[in-house]
Amino acid sequence: MNIRTVQAKRILTRQKRGFLALGDIPFTHSLSWAAGCGFGNIYCGKYCYAAQLPNWLYNKADGEEWGDAIIIKENAPDLLEAELAKAQNRPEFRIFMSSVTDPYQPIERRYRLTRRCLDVFAQYDDLDLLVIQTRSPFVTDDIERLARIPYVVVSMTIETNRGDLAVGPNDKFIEQRFEAVRQVADAGIRTQITVAPCLPYTPDFAQRLAYSGAGRIVVDTFVAGDGTQGQRTASSPFAEQVNYNWRDEDPAKRLYHALQDYDISVGWSVQGFASIPPREGAAE
Ligand code: SF4
Repeated sequence: MNIRTVQAKRILTRQKRGFLALGDIPFTHSLSWAAGCGFGNIYCGKYCYAAQLPNWLYNKADGEEWGDAIIIKENAPDLLEAELAKAQNRPEFRIFMSSVTDPYQPIERRYRLTRRCLDVFAQYDDLDLLVIQTRSPFVTDDIERLARIPYVVVSMTIETNRGDLAVGPNDKFIEQRFEAVRQVADAGIRTQITVAPCLPYTPDFAQRLAYSGAGRIVVDTFVAGDGTQGQRTASSPFAEQVNYNWRDEDPAKRLYHALQDYDISVGWSVQGFASIPPREGAAE
């Protein structure tokens, strides 16, 4: 893995189009301190749409493939501090961290940029929403910090309960993530699970999700969720290697409907991601 550090000019990216800007209550900004992702060589890296987006394509070196490199915006916490300090409309801020990388990828344990950003957020109690979107159990490293941010939601991707699909860097990755959700929820932090994209699962998956501790579940598919009705996925290495019909949305729809039987909030795809209630009157 090639690791390079750069000094960025801005860290909060205004959302005007794309899935974060859609939905009933859209996000206003994204925050990504890296181009590239340390999970680029695991299962999700094969279909990751971020590999086809400018944040990676404009920053990677010639010949580098997704998963080969991480370009780290080393001054991210300082930029965040400056941008939040001068913002006139912080109560409208709904920030998604991160849409093109993972804030708790393994290298976070070395650079602690997510942690330092959380320390900045903790100085401001007037934002509307900060979603920490990750598929890493390392999020539990920062439970005490997360608990200090009144508008935070920890959103964990758990795309299947089938360990035989080998979706992580080790064979306990699914269980580690369920355990992380439980720990975060037990700390009183709002927690969401994104089944995104929904991979083949066993019949007890809905029940497992419903009793995970998460107050909200979002189900998504390759077709509904890759931003191009499946075209990005079709042109990814995943489409050549996978041995099931990734275009079939029926299993995800069945899971979505099965979750309606439980006392939790359930969302579908883009609408589900971008419909977390505002702080006042939040139902979760
Ligand atoms: S963790 Fe997210 S950003 Fe990283 S490779 Fe997987 S899908 Fe892409």
